[in-house]
Amino acid sequence: MPTLILHGGAGRIDDARTDAYERGLAAALVAGWEVLERDGAAVDAVVAAVASMEADPSAFNAGVGSSLTRDGTVECDACLMDGRDGRAGAVALVTRSASPIRLARVVLERTPHVLLAGRGADALEDHPVDPGALVTPYARAQLERWRARHAESTGSAAEPTGSATVGAVALDDAGALAAATSTGGVIGQWPGRIGDAPIPGAGTYADRSVAVSCTGKGEAFLRAVTSKALAERLAAGAALEDALARALADVNAMGGSGGLIALLADGRLAWAFDTSHMALAWRSEGAEHVSVAAEPGVTVRP
Ligand code: ASP
Repeated sequence: MPTLILHGGAGRIDDARTDAYERGLAAALVAGWEVLERDGAAVDAVVAAVASMEADPSAFNAGVGSSLTRDGTVECDACLMDGRDGRAGAVALVTRSASPIRLARVVLERTPHVLLAGRGADALEDHPVDPGALVTPYARAQLERWRARHAESTGSAAEPTGSATVGAVALDDAGALAAATSTGGVIGQWPGRIGDAPIPGAGTYADRSVAVSCTGKGEAFLRAVTSKALAERLAAGAALEDALARALADVNAMGGSGGLIALLADGRLAWAFDTSHMALAWRSEGAEHVSVAAEPGVTVRP
């Protein structure tokens, strides 16, 4: 039975922006579900869903509308992983892509590599845009607010903040899983900083049993190797609820917070977050849900 679950980031989501998130999630759910409904592959569905959110600057931090570095530039990260064979394609620090997840797919399909960063990744973009076209007035205003808050701080004290990263995991009719994550990173990040999203096993992971996409403080997810650790615990027999709670605890222990979505080959879908909100949407045969969730914790749907 096909299933699709999406996130639009974990963090604080203002009431005034809830509608924009829900509209964007609903559109992405349609885009991904259209693929699954016509017996398309999970890998195509997650790309379609994530690309839909990347193209929507009204809520999300990916592609157009990405968060800005402390220099005011956009540097995007994205990863696509196919659970059928463990193949992955990822990009980091890309500056000319309206859809970094599609560029990650180009890396997967047309290169012998897994992750390309910066100049080499930008050169693969078939439809390059002017880097300024990815910068929105909202992202500029957020950076200004961040700068004002950190005017007195220097070095590591000027802690970048994130949210509104996008991700999707899907199970197709043939029983295959896939995961995709795309982000502009965190507001005020140092130029050249790469988060967890483009790193298979950290922010994004899929194998034959489980697919995962994470959001939150990337440094903590990188250090906890969150998505691969979750897969390994499940493979060792842990209950899904416990494995998710442990994933969040490990991220906390590494100094971070955030959330993740997971989908099992048996169709169980789940999410967990410890921030005030997480933007979530899912669909399976006969049931559909879109919301900005405000009940932190672990949720599993049979
Ligand atoms: N995990 C992303 C990063 O660290 C940010 C986020 O999900 O809010 O780049």
